[in-house]
Amino acid sequence: DSVVRTPMIIGNWKMNLDHVQAGQWLLEYAGSNEGWVNRMEASNTMVNRTEIGVLPSFTSLLAIRDMARKTRMTSELYFGAQNVSELDAGAYTGDISAQMLAALDCRYVLVGHSEQRRYHPEDDDTIDQKVRVVLDAGMTPIICIGETKLGRDNGIGIDYALNQLVAAVRLLSAADMCKVIVAYEPVWSIGTGATPEPPVIESALADIRDFINATFGADVAEKVRILYGGSVKPDNASAIIRRYGIDGFLVGGASLDPRQFAKICHRV
Ligand code: PGA
Repeated sequence: DSVVRTPMIIGNWKMNLDHVQAGQWLLEYAGSNEGWVNRMEASNTMVNRTEIGVLPSFTSLLAIRDMARKTRMTSELYFGAQNVSELDAGAYTGDISAQMLAALDCRYVLVGHSEQRRYHPEDDDTIDQKVRVVLDAGMTPIICIGETKLGRDNGIGIDYALNQLVAAVRLLSAADMCKVIVAYEPVWSIGTGATPEPPVIESALADIRDFINATFGADVAEKVRILYGGSVKPDNASAIIRRYGIDGFLVGGASLDPRQFAKICHRV
């Protein structure tokens, strides 16, 4: 029998919104009509309610945690970090450990976002360790994979992304893998307004699930949530989520506006 995966929408704020703006964002999100409607509907139906979260910058995490508590949003809006060090506490100036993020009640940590891969010396050998330390600290890794435009033009799109996934999960058991979230984000689609056609997204996510099936077994493949990311907006969210096997979205630009973000959440 099939497992029902809870849909999820995660807002990736990137290097935006300082701690004051983050607090304002949360108040607006809580107060926005769509946010409330979403909550009301969820509590009135038997439908699996959507899991919603945001990924502020490190300096805004505490503000988000405290504001979520104050406004009693802790079970409506989860949060996590955009990156983590793969190392344990020690002499690593400027780094943030998984323990520190867990102590702030982070639920998720993004690992291997294409912007980290691009602007920092992040490679497969650190990404697999980051996934490991996030799980060991009791949090959920959101592993980002996706091909560049060059890769797509050369016809190696999904294979490129799959190779990234192979490397990212190589230290994991089947039980670990069940806890992981995968976000497929074609690099050429991030922040550009261009998205693959919904059937293309469906087929990419099916390939990812096939890989998980082949590597970890059918039980695991049924449980792992796979998200799409790249220029998701209120306008295109419904058409994409309607396709088979798409468990939700990683939303960048459109998550900075609480009303836009609430609209996307409402459509899923
Ligand atoms: P975008 O970013 O929605 O602005 O394209 C997505 C992401 O990078 O996670």
